Amino acid sequence: MGERRFGLCDSCRHQRRVGNTRGSTFSLCGRAKTDPNFPKYPRMPVLECSGWERRDPDGGQG
Ligand code: SF4
Repeated sequence: MGERRFGLCDSCRHQRRVGNTRGSTFSLCGRAKTDPNFPKYPRMPVLECSGWERRDPDGGQG
């Protein structure tokens, strides 16, 4: 299922998605681990980001 509610992050290879016990899904920025310029929990939807990189359509996480 291609969700689009997190803006740019939905097509970014650095996105990490986590779910909680109530069924909500959150989008985290994996770049935050290595680059302090990126917040781990960016405000959604992200409309522009200097760190965006295309996710590999075949190797991306679901
Ligand atoms: S690098 Fe930017 S577009 Fe990619 S997951 Fe982080 S905040 Fe989203």
